[in-house]
Amino acid sequence: MKILLLGKNGQVGWELQRALAPLGEVIALDRKSASGLCGDLADLDGLVATVRQLAPDLIVNAAAYTAVDLAESEQSLAARINAEAPGVLAREASALGAWLIHYSTDYVFDGSGQSRWQEDAATCPLSTYGRSKLDGELAIRASGALAVVLRTSWVYAARGHNFAKTMLRLAAEREALNVVADQFGAPTGAELIADVTAHIVRQITGPSATDSLAGTYHLAAAGETSWHGFAQFVLAHARHKGVPLKVAAEQIGAISTEAYPVPASRPRNSRLDVGKLEATFKLKMPLWQQGVQRMLDEIL
Ligand code: NDP
Repeated sequence: MKILLLGKNGQVGWELQRALAPLGEVIALDRKSASGLCGDLADLDGLVATVRQLAPDLIVNAAAYTAVDLAESEQSLAARINAEAPGVLAREASALGAWLIHYSTDYVFDGSGQSRWQEDAATCPLSTYGRSKLDGELAIRASGALAVVLRTSWVYAARGHNFAKTMLRLAAEREALNVVADQFGAPTGAELIADVTAHIVRQITGPSATDSLAGTYHLAAAGETSWHGFAQFVLAHARHKGVPLKVAAEQIGAISTEAYPVPASRPRNSRLDVGKLEATFKLKMPLWQQGVQRMLDEIL
């Protein structure tokens, strides 16, 4: 099986290089890829030419415009990378009869209520980033391609930039730290996302594969917390490991969304219901603490 992986150096893309390796020939690209291949999602013609040249059996798109706040002032670039490019990939996949796996986000929802979002719940993004990711989903659906769209949340990894690492840095530098306590979700490791993706690839390309596996699924770790709870967990574990910090877990201030103004609005309720993913692919999502602890043990 020939697999085209886009966004190979992102949090998820990096882990996918590992998880997809045993499944076939993986051609992994980032936006600066050489050798005549184009992995730049802003270059739509280049993408088309590359997919046609490689004719993969599977495209996995881990590349995205993920600068949530910057997207408010770079709307057309965010739309090209997160909406138009996935549409192009899906149409090319459809023409080849290849599968497409793509990642989307809890930010397609408005964050109302307290229940877990199911896949068919009404979407209503609050930000340009969320809108661009939703438009990407719609473009993929409209293409008729055999596609699996995995909506995930609060991604972290040992490699790359993320909230957990920012908290470690700030707690070492500052005398006080305040973190938003009224947004809820599940921190989800890039390792878990990549391993679940590989499991899905085995099923959609295996002997008992059916087209009915195509669709949208929520993929997040089990349990829930707030950003404040996430930060407390990270600092408590770092302290336990002997990392010198100026702020202890119990000293982190709990603040409201309004007290931390940022350009892009975030959903307060990012709880994703993973029942469809678990039932369809026979999986059980681990508790979020398990993956975060593992990541911290790796980096500290
Ligand atoms: P990262 O930001 O870690 O990685 C995204 C990758 O895309 C980076 O390697 C980036 O490269 C690359 N990229 C950006 N622009 C382009 C471009 N024009 N052409 C090619 N590559 C480009 O994101 P994650 O791994 O965390 O995210 C993976 C997926 O999960 C994305 O679809 C994202 O929307 C989704 N998601 C992420 C969440 C999160 O908390 N991070 C939450 C929910 C969903 P470079 O570093 O050079 O810019």
